Amino acid sequence: MNAPTPIDLRSDTVTRPTPAMWEAMRRAELGDDVFGDDPTVNALQQRLAADLGFEAALFMPTGTQSNLCALMAHCDRGDEYIVGQMAHTYRWEGGGAAVLGSIQPQPLPNQPDGTLALAEIEAAIKPDDAHFARTRLLALENTWGGRVLPMDYVAAATQLARERGLANHLDGARLFNAAVATDLEPRDIARHFDSVSVCFSKGLGTPAGSALCGSRELIGRAHRWRKMTGGAMRQSGVLAAAALHALDHHVDRLADDHAHARALADGLQGLPGVQVDLPQTNIVFVDLAPDRAPGVVDRLRERGVLATGLYRLRLVTHLDVSSDDVGRAIEILRRTL
Ligand SMILES: *Cc1c(COP(=O)(O)O)cnc(C)c1O
Repeated sequence: MNAPTPIDLRSDTVTRPTPAMWEAMRRAELGDDVFGDDPTVNALQQRLAADLGFEAALFMPTGTQSNLCALMAHCDRGDEYIVGQMAHTYRWEGGGAAVLGSIQPQPLPNQPDGTLALAEIEAAIKPDDAHFARTRLLALENTWGGRVLPMDYVAAATQLARERGLANHLDGARLFNAAVATDLEPRDIARHFDSVSVCFSKGLGTPAGSALCGSRELIGRAHRWRKMTGGAMRQSGVLAAAALHALDHHVDRLADDHAHARALADGLQGLPGVQVDLPQTNIVFVDLAPDRAPGVVDRLRERGVLATGLYRLRLVTHLDVSSDDVGRAIEILRRTL
């Protein structure tokens, strides 16, 4: 007898293409994107740039590479970028900006809502003096840990950076989750930034792919870095077709993932030694008392729920998690926690 398929709440990256997405990929018109003649990649880049209000966009294999090329397009060797201590570009991307770009990060603590305090940003901007790296860029992340940055904060922080001569970059791996959760157009969030990176491989459900948006000039520089860092692909229209399909069919449905996350959080309330944050989007954090935490991830796996974390479980809803799965997961989680 086959074991039932586990409910995979480790990440929204684990989704498989839907039959309709496979069909869009199969039918994609292809070319060689290094020659610039893959029509599907070109269509995706034009579509995304227009949707988000930028001159240009560049398709990338991963969000890590998209952020890296953005940082290297904004900053030269010996420049500095201001970033959250817990931001993906700083903490989860292998230090690529420093290693490959000779760009010094200036990390600042993330407040519980994901913001960087304006006074701390201001104090971190270095004077023009030979002692200091040149502070060139503020990098924010939205959503951050599933939280949506408040829009008045985004406006204030990016304005502060601009007034001090810095550019603004957004790691918008889950920008569409932020837009759906706030009922804003993605471009209303993106318009505060000089560059925005988005992932298609998270909530939007494609097998791979991200994109960087910015001015023609910035994207021109990022294009050189993408080639140099090995990210220029050939018939990548296969992946771009999945992204185009996702933009048409998988954005509004993110509201389902958010509702599922909310149901999951509601279903886990009231357990002793377990503290559940109410999610704003598709990520639920569950804090466990130290005596409950050991082995929880292993026991959940044995019972058919995949999760990550240690004292803080992270449960992520996505395209391949149904309402039934949520109900089943709640039952297994309650039994296990
Ligand atoms: C997933 C993610 C990225 C990029 O990740 P890749 O796995 O390289 O595509 C960047 N930033 C955030 C916030 C992410 O969650």
